Amino acid sequence: MSVLKPQYRFNCILDITAEDLKAAGAKLVLLDADNTLSLHGSQEPHSGVPEWIEEIKKSGIELVIVSNNSESRIKPFAEKLGLPFVFKGAKPLPKGFKKACKMFGVSPKESAVIGDQIFTDVLGGNWIGAKVFLTEPLGPETDFFIKVKRKIEKYIR
Ligand SMILES: [Mg+2]
Repeated sequence: MSVLKPQYRFNCILDITAEDLKAAGAKLVLLDADNTLSLHGSQEPHSGVPEWIEEIKKSGIELVIVSNNSESRIKPFAEKLGLPFVFKGAKPLPKGFKKACKMFGVSPKESAVIGDQIFTDVLGGNWIGAKVFLTEPLGPETDFFIKVKRKIEKYIR
């Protein structure tokens, strides 16, 4: 099922360069938060993430967090990183991603999704025609439903 396949796979977000994003035609990056930028639910960004964000910004590419998590989780985290954000993004549905694209006036086709989950980030990114970068989750899941999804994902990855 091609909608469940990313175009690019990386171990960690820090391995993705501005050149990689530009080569993919991305003007805007739609960033997942949990297990992509930090451990699930953590307000502490993964080591190197703030510097990575600065590097990408310097290259002229815009960044926005699109998370399915709540405002109380995402707002302080995004503010700490100096990024705009969409919370309760309802991924894989297009509405959160599309809202983020509208904030920047960028077409979804000129955006890249970076995230760690096939059934939210990859499926949602393919749905809107974005370039999809799948990363390995930074840490173990604590949420029961995500644990179940991970078991299924193992057969697809
Ligand atoms: Mg995630």
